[in-house]
Amino acid sequence: MSHPTDESCIFCKIVAGQLPCFKLFEDEATIAFMDINPVNPGHALAVAKGHWPTIDVIPADVLAAVAQTAQRVAKAAMRALEPSGVNLLQSNGAGAGQSVPHLHVHILPRHPGDKVRFNWTYTPGDKAEIQAICERLKAAL
Ligand code: AMP
Ligand code: ZN
Repeated sequence: MSHPTDESCIFCKIVAGQLPCFKLFEDEATIAFMDINPVNPGHALAVAKGHWPTIDVIPADVLAAVAQTAQRVAKAAMRALEPSGVNLLQSNGAGAGQSVPHLHVHILPRHPGDKVRFNWTYTPGDKAEIQAICERLKAAL
């Protein structure tokens, strides 16, 4: 099966075997390997083999395959590492903190007292504003 590639992309190089990785799993459409800058022990990535930067351009069936691989790795992390929880994180665009523009899902085992922070708190929103944005989103579906 052929995939779109980008010769300057590090994940494409890993998929092609031109750069090493600590590989966990691969199938026709996806590969999973350990993150080289682990936030916590067991931090891994589920990656599309093809070069699609973000969620708006990747074909839905490939995204589904990435989700299945992420689930497989998350279940392995739960079994083997017994973390207190697991976060899945997928970023789109530099504004969302995406540093590698090749679609991937982080599988991040969590432990009590770890240093991982998500930088929002719960503050009830303005209902009229929520509804207005809901309408704008529905119109764009
Ligand atoms: P993001 O910021 O969501 O784009 O995540 C990119 C992730 O890729 C970061 O967590 C990096 O540590 C990781 N990464 C970058 N280069 C490599 C590599 N050569 N092997 C494994 N992970 C990598
Ligand atoms: Zn790529």
